Amino acid sequence: FNVPEPVNEPVLNYGPRSLERAALKAALNEARSQQVDIPMYIGGKEVRTGKLMELRPPHDHKHLLGTFHWGNKTHINDAINAALAAKADWENLPWEQRAAIFLKAAELFAGPYRAKINAATMLGQSKNAYQAEIDAACELIDFLRFNVHYMTEIYQQQPPVSGKGIWNRVEQRPLEGFVFALTPFNFTAIAGNLPASAAMMGNVVVWKPADTQVYAANVVMQVFKEAGVPDGVINLIYADGPEVGDVVFNHPDFAGIHFTGSTKVFQHIWQTIGTNIHKYKTYPRIVGETGGKDFVLAHPSADVDVLSTALLRGAFEYQGQKCSAASRAYIPASLWPAVKAQLQTEIAGFKMGPVEDFENFINAVISEVSFDKLVKYIEAAKADKTVELIAGGKYDKTRGWFVEPTVLHVQDPYYVTMCEELFGPVLTVYVYEDDKWDEILNIVDNTSIYALTGAIISQDRYAIADATYKLRNAAGNFYINDKPTGAVVGQQPFGGARGSGTNDKAGSMINLLRWVSPRTIKETF
Ligand code: NAD
Repeated sequence: FNVPEPVNEPVLNYGPRSLERAALKAALNEARSQQVDIPMYIGGKEVRTGKLMELRPPHDHKHLLGTFHWGNKTHINDAINAALAAKADWENLPWEQRAAIFLKAAELFAGPYRAKINAATMLGQSKNAYQAEIDAACELIDFLRFNVHYMTEIYQQQPPVSGKGIWNRVEQRPLEGFVFALTPFNFTAIAGNLPASAAMMGNVVVWKPADTQVYAANVVMQVFKEAGVPDGVINLIYADGPEVGDVVFNHPDFAGIHFTGSTKVFQHIWQTIGTNIHKYKTYPRIVGETGGKDFVLAHPSADVDVLSTALLRGAFEYQGQKCSAASRAYIPASLWPAVKAQLQTEIAGFKMGPVEDFENFINAVISEVSFDKLVKYIEAAKADKTVELIAGGKYDKTRGWFVEPTVLHVQDPYYVTMCEELFGPVLTVYVYEDDKWDEILNIVDNTSIYALTGAIISQDRYAIADATYKLRNAAGNFYINDKPTGAVVGQQPFGGARGSGTNDKAGSMINLLRWVSPRTIKETF
């Protein structure tokens, strides 16, 4: 079969008088003027429990966007049963029919649903128009198109050698049981990709998004249904994480988890699966992309403009709430005065406020819990005489959960904000002596438990080669003279090791192979 060659979805620019801006504004106005009532989707049916949870924009927490229905253990079991009931038909559907459904979903996101999914992501997760566009439109579409491409390669792999009178073949079976997709708040693309990638390989899925992602998840599910995902193949439930885990991880048909979220939750889940391992029919696949403490390392030869841009965009786009966000920086003393001045000037010019005003570069952090956590770290840093506040440091929760882009300069390279994932707009800088290059490489490598992304900024080819080699285990995605964020599906397969995940590269054949269990067949004539 010749499936369509995948191409990355172009990023629309939403300029002041553009048609796409007009369509997006209309979708935002429509969303704000209604109050949606969001059901769960179990076996293709909309399920309303009557136990309602509220959805509010993080940048405008007095406004009610709508409510969603909260499930309990009965609904979680219903979702598993619906998935298992749909399994036989789905896995027996020829793979090219499954591929067509997800290609159709990509086109729906690219066209008729683009403004709606972007508006939902902007309002529900407080992303500005550009951040929504590169996530909920482009990355989600790319995941679908490229995964279909990798899927077809898997199903059309060269067969093994067969001898005289013998026919050897390998069959790519879906996993025996159901797959559990557990998604984080920060990317709508991940919300769509985790259930879809397992489903396209013939699996049935129970999907639970973060509570702060429900608004966009509902649109993703509507598109999947309209594209033709059959009833029961993807079941979307909203319930307490540990309660869902309690049902799912005790179920004999649990066959795999596709997770993105924090390291702490993933480690807890892995432990639970380990404890229950004797209960399952099959060893479950455990795929998880988790936290990060991503670095920017500048060499004395670095171009100051390239470095400042990498820091500003890497640390503060989407309020630093990307797993790949630059949150620790190592700057040589000779460059620090120029870099510091540039950071202060640029940050002073950043506009912060609601997403509806397209001029705002910085919007709100996701929740009060996140706001309180960030305030705690910022106040502790302000009270610490060894820490210098370079920019920001203020916050305001009157209308939304707003935290200023904050830069801290620390004396101790192992200061707490150099090591822990804060998941907000806080960049910590350590300034090193120019002649301490070897020492700083060692510090970068050994500071955090994570290894997701990192960047080297340098014009010296020997320094680039040195850092690329010595930091080879410090990041699953390594950038040379660029910010450590913004991986593009099909171009930079994404994922980290150490405390950052199982590194099964999202949007790649490596990932899709985790959702099949091959059977080798030998036939003798
Ligand atoms: P989270 O770990 O709090 O939640 C992730 C999901 O797990 C949510 O759906 C949540 O409801 C659920 N959950 C929480 N506790 C649970 C439990 N005990 N049992 C079962 N489910 C449970 O993460 P988050 O705050 O939504 O997302 C931010 C985190 O995600 C950050 O650490 C970030 O680095 C990480 N992240 C990583 C990547 C990556 O590719 N490595 C991408 C995006 C986000």
